[in-house]
Amino acid sequence: MMDLRFDSQDDKAGLQLIEELTASAKKVQKQVLVEILTRNAETEYLQRFLSGQCDVDLFKEKVPLVNYEGIKPYIDRIAKGEPSHLLSAEPISELLTSSGTSGGRPKMMPSTAKDLDRKTFLYDLLVPVMNKYIPGLDQGKGMYLLFIKPETKTPSGLMARPVLTSYYKSKNFRNRPFNKYNVYTSPDETILCPDNRQSMYCQLLCGLKQRGEVLRVGAVFASAFLRAIKFLEDNWRELCLNIRTGNLSDWVTDIGSRESVTRILEQPDFELANLIEAECCKKSWEGIIKRIWPRTKYIDVIVTGSMAQYIPNLEFYGGGLPLISTMYASSECYFGLNLKPLSKPSDVSYTLLPNMAFFEFLPVTKGHEGEIGSVHRNGFTSNSCLETDQNSRKKETAAVDLVDVQIGRCYELIVTTFTGLYRYKVGDILMVTGFHNKAPQFKFVHRRNVVLSIDTDKTNEEDLMSAVARAKRLLEPLECMLTEYTSYADTSTIPGHYVLFWEIKHMGSSTAAWRKLDSSVMEECCSVVEDSLDYIYKRCRAKDKSIGPLEIRVVQEGCFDSLMDLCVSQGSSVNQYKTPRCIKSKELLRLLDSRVIGRFFSQKPPVLPTIHQTS
Ligand code: AMP
Repeated sequence: MMDLRFDSQDDKAGLQLIEELTASAKKVQKQVLVEILTRNAETEYLQRFLSGQCDVDLFKEKVPLVNYEGIKPYIDRIAKGEPSHLLSAEPISELLTSSGTSGGRPKMMPSTAKDLDRKTFLYDLLVPVMNKYIPGLDQGKGMYLLFIKPETKTPSGLMARPVLTSYYKSKNFRNRPFNKYNVYTSPDETILCPDNRQSMYCQLLCGLKQRGEVLRVGAVFASAFLRAIKFLEDNWRELCLNIRTGNLSDWVTDIGSRESVTRILEQPDFELANLIEAECCKKSWEGIIKRIWPRTKYIDVIVTGSMAQYIPNLEFYGGGLPLISTMYASSECYFGLNLKPLSKPSDVSYTLLPNMAFFEFLPVTKGHEGEIGSVHRNGFTSNSCLETDQNSRKKETAAVDLVDVQIGRCYELIVTTFTGLYRYKVGDILMVTGFHNKAPQFKFVHRRNVVLSIDTDKTNEEDLMSAVARAKRLLEPLECMLTEYTSYADTSTIPGHYVLFWEIKHMGSSTAAWRKLDSSVMEECCSVVEDSLDYIYKRCRAKDKSIGPLEIRVVQEGCFDSLMDLCVSQGSSVNQYKTPRCIKSKELLRLLDSRVIGRFFSQKPPVLPTIHQTS
């Protein structure tokens, strides 16, 4: 088996390992594939295509590229209690619920005990990379706001939970060696507290109490970090009171959190409480991070992909602190690292480490702006990587190896993992920006099909369309008809929320439709849309509260014609024009907003269904 060990205290050894792995990317990839095929030759899945053979060329010829629907029957059977070796020779120890959904439910990815070491390996490699660029991180702590999410069990008793919940609960995380990089202000008990509000409160309290030691702050995604700032804005008085008195608020009932936080609070600290209060009282919160935690060197949050929408907010609160996206990972597999952590968010590239999985790349055709260009062209996504969906069969044969990708081209990522995924399409579109030794570096371009995302939710065009189709029926009794719609992720507030622009035609008389619109009907439309969206949206909205109430903005009749005129004036082809289903351009947004005649919000969070994983 490929060796995943190195001395995580030895920066030189870590950097050397990255050099070796990337320099021999081709050889390592071949070894990885041979190892996966040899070990799993007898699995039902590979047997079906390879009849027990482990030949690499045969693998590429016979094993199809699949999306989730292709493996779902196997996953469902395993969830119901059939043996792991349908997919994997090594026992599948749990299923990781992804933020991608299938039929409204989270996709579930197989995981094995050994895979934990592969994840730890990647986290460990971050240490020497960060130390290389930012010296002195051993002189203090990291204030990371990390959270767990609910877990469920499959009918066979297999645990199903998100990948980070699994990681934070693992022995690798809890028994991590206290080296210079992983000393956190949050006690593990507060991270592992199942009540997110208590968890957030306690973690912020510990971060404030230890403010003088904090050298970096962060969360996994930018959205979570901004939520923490908002929480601080709403709760700083109570937090300061706890610091002042040395007593934790009574409503924090989680025993582990109480004990660990009480130990950190120690005794009353008037001076610190006054100091934090003085900062929080100021009218503007610009640069608040640097003001409260003055030794902070950077903000560690992912700001690539859909998280790029949060960069302006983070810059405001961070007051110029670097924003660092350290790694690229998913429930399927951890992929790689950002080897130049100080690069600007728009320049971030990730180097896929060749020992993490076997990677292939399906070229995505460039420059086909016509069909879907309208969606992209109004956005910040570069139009150099638009996809065509024609002839997927032809594309399948064209998948190329890691070392054969070309600079400037876009590809869809395909993985064959150690845990039972074979030629699986992750759904991410990446662009090659360069090479580190022989290993390519990729910019994250976008996730296939996703139109709206605030937190970990990923709403695609189809789901949005069917949600709108359900909601618009409520207009019929009012003799009104929805003629056009589009959407927008409004992140100007924390948390952000979905906005739908609706143009409504009144069928009965010439009176403007909106005058007839009863706000209770429109609010109900908002709720029906929310109820129709997928499980992850509902969890973020109803449980994590990381998404605010959905809003419908009704626009004047004719507004969408003006939208088309504007798009055409900017170069969209009239023949191929399709209403963009998501708006990203400021100019288009200004146009829509200038025609708004009514705003309505969902009045109740959607009901969160219990997930019956395999039904
Ligand atoms: P999940 O399956 O819920 O673990 O989500 C994984 C997905 O999150 C990936 O496939 C990407 O679409 C996205 N993602 C993860 N890391 C990054 C990153 N560094 N930049 C942009 N998107 C990311």
